[in-house]
Amino acid sequence: MGVRRRRPIGEMLTEEELWRRLDAALQGVAGRIDEERLKRLVGEPLRKVARRVSENPLGVVFVKVADKVLNTGRACSLWPLQFGLACCAIEMMATGAARWDLERFGMFFRSTPRQADAMIVAGTVTMKMAPVLERLYHQMPEPRYVVALGNCAVSGGRFYADAYSVVKGVDRIVPVDIYIPGCPPRPESLVWGLLRLHDVIRGESIADPPVVEGRRPKEHFYKRLRGCEGQASEADGHE
Ligand code: SF4
Repeated sequence: MGVRRRRPIGEMLTEEELWRRLDAALQGVAGRIDEERLKRLVGEPLRKVARRVSENPLGVVFVKVADKVLNTGRACSLWPLQFGLACCAIEMMATGAARWDLERFGMFFRSTPRQADAMIVAGTVTMKMAPVLERLYHQMPEPRYVVALGNCAVSGGRFYADAYSVVKGVDRIVPVDIYIPGCPPRPESLVWGLLRLHDVIRGESIADPPVVEGRRPKEHFYKRLRGCEGQASEADGHE
């Protein structure tokens, strides 16, 4: 009885050997792959591939599982941008501190917009601050979400009527996903708003059309599954 020789751990496989083994493992599938088609697929955005895959029932299952994994990861690791504008920022700081503890939701504040995916606009937005806020928003990568915290950020608040220097709602500058009214709103309200933001994120899909400049598409994969979506074409699929 002969002893089977084990392949040394450090031994490198040649490319042909690698393809042969892959082909054997996949029972000939690798050999049947059309290279041109594969190249086209690699060059396509994942979103487009997912939309095409979701046309058949097996693809729907795949997209749903992928969504579940991606959305849970995204919702449970929101990193808001660390900046505050006025009194509401004190409430935001309190929410991040030990008593309310945002880190239990996987959230902690980042001091650079390039590593943040949520912006909590906490306080009065003045005309002078508006271009800075807009620039910070554009420096954040997609997908990005905005929460308007407090009456001032929602609509200008107590400065709506008389102040020439206050923006009458931050949604005039950047698209807002969640509005939290109050002057100031308590930390519980912010936690509530952030949990609603989790719901928004969990309702998204990789098969949805892309978000352009923060504008969410009207057409959603899950609505399409339930058959309650309008016949909006991809071309005019944005609000
Ligand atoms: S909503 Fe009230 S507490 Fe918040 S920034 Fe405006 S004035 Fe201050």
